[in-house]
Amino acid sequence: MTDLVIAGLRKSFATVDVLSGVDLTVPSGSLAAVLGPSGCGKTTLLRIVAGFERPDDGSVRLAGRTVSSRSVHLPPEKRRIGIVPQEGALFPHLSVGRNVAYGLRRGSGRGRVREVLDLVGLVDLADRMPHELSGGQQQRVAVARALAPRPELILLDEPFSALDAGLRAEVRADVRTALRADGVTAVLVTHDQEEALSTADLVAVMRGGRIVQAAAPRALYLLPADLGVASFVGDTVLLPGTLTGRCAVTALGSLAVREPLPSGGDVRVVLRPEQIVLSANGDGVPARVRVQVFFGHDSLVHLELGDGAVVTARSLDASWAQPGAQVRLAVRGEVSCFSPD
Ligand code: ATP
Repeated sequence: MTDLVIAGLRKSFATVDVLSGVDLTVPSGSLAAVLGPSGCGKTTLLRIVAGFERPDDGSVRLAGRTVSSRSVHLPPEKRRIGIVPQEGALFPHLSVGRNVAYGLRRGSGRGRVREVLDLVGLVDLADRMPHELSGGQQQRVAVARALAPRPELILLDEPFSALDAGLRAEVRADVRTALRADGVTAVLVTHDQEEALSTADLVAVMRGGRIVQAAAPRALYLLPADLGVASFVGDTVLLPGTLTGRCAVTALGSLAVREPLPSGGDVRVVLRPEQIVLSANGDGVPARVRVQVFFGHDSLVHLELGDGAVVTARSLDASWAQPGAQVRLAVRGEVSCFSPD
């Protein structure tokens, strides 16, 4: 078992606390995404796990062995950790095959090089030089190189951020498949919520030097721990409401609330734009279309309610809901509720 267990990790630079007690367990063979805004300490966390930085307090255990704590510091090269940096950092003078073989013992690697290049779909490019590859191919080689020595853990530091949007989705799906096929435990650092939700088994949201919530992607999206997590992992519609039992009365009607419930009374109600269903007439709360933003796969429709509140609906076909149109709104599914403070 190669679980990664991070407990109570603290780190300051000068007088600035960057990590203020990080706890995170990544089960063996799974991929955890550490998701947080720029500067929240993600790279510092990764560097401590890799052994490039020492913690002030707390510990990192890998496969049951403490590799970092106040008193223990296993050097990076002894940790059996593979690293995939932001931009592949391949050796420019070595072929793809020799890049991948770099960390392997002489003579032992042929089969493994082929195996990991096969995992990332590049087995035919083993003789190419890095400058003869696209950015996406270079990142795949970097992943193959990290996997080759059979590490206990792979750390990926925003590995797709330099790729353009279309390519990014394809490369991360392929990398995800390769990591899963190899069975390695992995941690991906990203500030891209879509990347975290679509790639990871476990998403850990980091804020203010702590993990504020770690959960499977669907649970995180549906049951955010607080308003900050809710808005960090997706678009939100935020409404004041009054909670009675399991229903919140809001400007969008009486809405069913998911557990856990705050105590009754005034609450802040959070739902997702795709929960608001538009119709041209019929039942529902009246609203007026202000703006529609077309994305191809769907549209975001900004709507004004009778009381002046503005909400946003995500709709697959809203071609008829042009600015100025009067529409009706209904909410499907349950919503989340938080106390107002
Ligand atoms: P980004 O997404 O922009 O890479 P991040 O979440 O990875 O950000 P870190 O790189 O871990 O954040 O940095 C967290 C904070 O710690 C920042 O304010 C940064 O300036 C500071 N910091 C990081 N390394 C050092 C260092 N060696 N010395 C001083 N301050 C540092």
